[in-house]
Amino acid sequence: MFDPSAEAQAELISERLRQIRARIERACAESGRAPGSVKLMAVTKTVSPERVNIALGEGVDLLGENRVQEFLGKNLSYNCEKSQIHFIGHLQTNKIRDIINKVSCIQSIDSLRLANAVSSAARKAGIVMPCLLEVNIGREESKSGFAPEGVLDAAREIAALSGISLHGLMTVAPAVAGKTGDDSCFRDMQQLFTQLQESSLPGASIDTLSMGMTGDFEMAVRCGSTLVRVGQGIFGARDVQTGLPQH
Ligand SMILES: *Cc1c(COP(=O)(O)O)cnc(C)c1O
Repeated sequence: MFDPSAEAQAELISERLRQIRARIERACAESGRAPGSVKLMAVTKTVSPERVNIALGEGVDLLGENRVQEFLGKNLSYNCEKSQIHFIGHLQTNKIRDIINKVSCIQSIDSLRLANAVSSAARKAGIVMPCLLEVNIGREESKSGFAPEGVLDAAREIAALSGISLHGLMTVAPAVAGKTGDDSCFRDMQQLFTQLQESSLPGASIDTLSMGMTGDFEMAVRCGSTLVRVGQGIFGARDVQTGLPQH
């Protein structure tokens, strides 16, 4: 059946994706980085599976999931045979087993306790789970993640765990960064990432610096991000009160 609003939605998502990809490539070019060196993730929180499938149809090959319950309610409807799914939200240890066989990376390892629990769940499942450490780079009380000064020690311990392969770092920068153009948090992340690479930890292959969202992804790319996580920029603004998309 012809549904004009569904068609308009698809047009909108397709056009937004085209613009975001162009902006990522422009930021790469401006900062002397190779074309195609930054991966685009579509963040699906509050977005219906139908709309996620539009993005998948437009060639998005990486999804980001924040909430275990929401993810479990949607993932069977995704047409994502060719795509990967990363977990990017705060993860409670008692939910690990719900996602361990459904995602190909956990980007939000925010404590040694969680790392140990993922390690043991992965061993039980007979897999090795790629992971990133989440860094609370702005030292915000409202955010989880390792304090910047604790990251390298934590990385050493976590890289040594069986069942986990450490691939790098993830952060959610303070919202003010995108508004003021202050890139100091991203620069600090870039420096930590370089230090982590240079420490050549056994059991780690440090190739991913996940930073940059709708409001700040170009700045993040200019500071060395290898993976940007974009939700509203692709799917439209989320309602701040209800968390529902406004379209
Ligand atoms: C929601 C979210 C994003 C995407 O934010 P947008 O502003 O919608 O681009 C990225 N990363 C994490 C961890 C998120 O929770």
